[in-house]
Amino acid sequence: MHPELSNREERTSRIVAERLRALGLDEVKTGVGKYGVVALLKGSKPGPVVAVRADMDALPIQETIDVPYKSLTPGVKHACGHDVHTTVELGVAEVLSKMRDQIAGSIKFIFQPAEEGAPQGEEGGASLMIKEGALENPRPQAIFGLHTAAFEVGQIGYQSGPAMASSDKFTITIHGKKSHGAVPQGGIDAVVVAAECVTALQTIRSRRIDPLEPLVLTIGTINGGVRNNIIADEVKMEGTMRTLNEQVRARAKELMRQTLASVTSAYDAKFDLSFDDSNPVTYNDPRLVDETLPKIRHLVGDPNLLSLKPFMPAEDFSYYQKVIPGFFYFLGVGNKAKGLMPAWHTAEFDVDEESLVVGVKVMTNVLLDYLDHHAASR
Ligand SMILES: [Zn+2]
Ligand SMILES: [Zn+2]
Repeated sequence: MHPELSNREERTSRIVAERLRALGLDEVKTGVGKYGVVALLKGSKPGPVVAVRADMDALPIQETIDVPYKSLTPGVKHACGHDVHTTVELGVAEVLSKMRDQIAGSIKFIFQPAEEGAPQGEEGGASLMIKEGALENPRPQAIFGLHTAAFEVGQIGYQSGPAMASSDKFTITIHGKKSHGAVPQGGIDAVVVAAECVTALQTIRSRRIDPLEPLVLTIGTINGGVRNNIIADEVKMEGTMRTLNEQVRARAKELMRQTLASVTSAYDAKFDLSFDDSNPVTYNDPRLVDETLPKIRHLVGDPNLLSLKPFMPAEDFSYYQKVIPGFFYFLGVGNKAKGLMPAWHTAEFDVDEESLVVGVKVMTNVLLDYLDHHAASR
């Protein structure tokens, strides 16, 4: 009911920290990566450290559904289910805080702001939390996270290896030279050059990269020129690139630069290319997935454990997985019988609250199973 935008999770963060302190967790650090909260729960038996992460931010979308828990903040809504993630992780902390004597090792709870991306000009999200020490003192040896998904409540979905795409926002500026619209030979037409660049960039997907490797290269905006009879001296384009493989990602960036350099030089134009707002590939460590699945299968039943194809949206959980092995899986929050088929980032997004129970049960067991497994092999 109280969604807050990325890097503005002041109230959410405060309530999370209050709850964790009330549960008697051993350390509760606030202000990690702006409104991030990191807490540690020590079991009474020795063992490894494992982490669990939930994100807390909402989206600038007006709530349209009429439910008891509808957003009370105009223009802001939990349309990606991050409120579910936060609630589940608090539930996990509550359950585990009451069974310390059975825990071999420690659990690090990470509550993260700004997963959807920090506002323009601000840092935030997983990368900032890592920079500010979320994965140090102590360093967990694995991390788990979950995300809502449109399939039925009671089901868990997963991918082994690539789970969600890398995303790179890019900006291209083509620099030409102004001239009278009827005297093109006196200028360098940035509109014509930009048009050639747009088509040439698509051949990276179609001609330069292995067809079996997913790649999306989208130019989403194109702006340039000032008047019908003036040759434009500048065109600005923005787009996004998605891959499921870090090598393809690096290669595609290199090919973008090469393509832009070649096309612009043919017309004596210049260009700038910059990338920001990036996320790596969300990559689930296959060994960690293999050792975790039997427990999840046992909890939800084999027909409810869904092996999924990767998704092309991105997730900044990927930053933790660059440091330590991680497993990010999907929690069914839909219910066809109740007419709930929630689509991420839409005004109609809604969840079956039964998913909270499933989420807490599965994540609690996954963490305990990990600790037992690795305490035994130490
Ligand atoms: Zn989202
Ligand atoms: Zn999300």
